[in-house]
Amino acid sequence: MGYMGNKREKLKILVIVAHPHDFTHCSGTCGVHTRLGDEVTVVTLMSGAQMHNEKYHDELMKPEKDRDPAIINFPVKEYEKKKEQEFKDAVALFGVTDIRILHAPEPYRLYKSPEYGEVLGKIILDVRPDILITQSPYYDGNLRGRNGMANGMMDDHSQTSFAVHEGLRYAAISNYETKAAPHNVVLVLYMGIYFNRDQVDFYIDVTDWLEQRVKSEAAFTTQGHTYEFAKRRIETTVGGQGYWSNTPYSEGFVRSNYEVFDSIPISETSIKRAREGSSKMIQRIEGKKT
Ligand SMILES: [Zn+2]
Repeated sequence: MGYMGNKREKLKILVIVAHPHDFTHCSGTCGVHTRLGDEVTVVTLMSGAQMHNEKYHDELMKPEKDRDPAIINFPVKEYEKKKEQEFKDAVALFGVTDIRILHAPEPYRLYKSPEYGEVLGKIILDVRPDILITQSPYYDGNLRGRNGMANGMMDDHSQTSFAVHEGLRYAAISNYETKAAPHNVVLVLYMGIYFNRDQVDFYIDVTDWLEQRVKSEAAFTTQGHTYEFAKRRIETTVGGQGYWSNTPYSEGFVRSNYEVFDSIPISETSIKRAREGSSKMIQRIEGKKT
């Protein structure tokens, strides 16, 4: 895989996320790679039927007599179907055609549904990816999440990552029963959005995918996302990561393990940036083509 001399072989990338919307955090990078001709498969462990149903949530907060029956009685299956369509629309914006929606119970807990380790393992064996991108398995000890929710171990996202790691083990061992050819993933990456700036290993410049990132954010109308909200969120998150990596818009990644190189790796983009000079740099961050 990867760079063999000057010839670049096609890569297979497998993205496994907890909920449909989580894919967006690495979607620009997926676009970069589908444009290079690489194969990208996206899997969501949950359909997201119980998550981010903001309208329903807000309705439940009202006294019973004030609740709108149209919202309260809206079938969860219909909500799930709508969200699945939003997910497919969002993924398609980045040239990804292989989408798999699993229906793990929500909230997902590995100890309650350990069988998903094997389910994901079988997907890894089927796709046989070079690179696997997933949620962060770490928790930094900060138990105060947004909205007072507990972060860390008891969180769909880290639990999904644990299940992915079970799957990676399942795929790598010799299986006496199935006799499937084992598979080792070359590189496991966690999406940088879940990390502090100084923990990110590298950034991918996704400036060319800005419009799609805003559109995919706005696609999740079941989560209450509007175009204005989407623009603001992408400016602050993808723009934020971009700013700290001297790029208009970028997505960060953290490697699960050390990587070995034949010599010190240095990217062409880094060389260009070092030599461009200050005024060109400012124009580039402004979004002007330089
Ligand atoms: Zn999520």
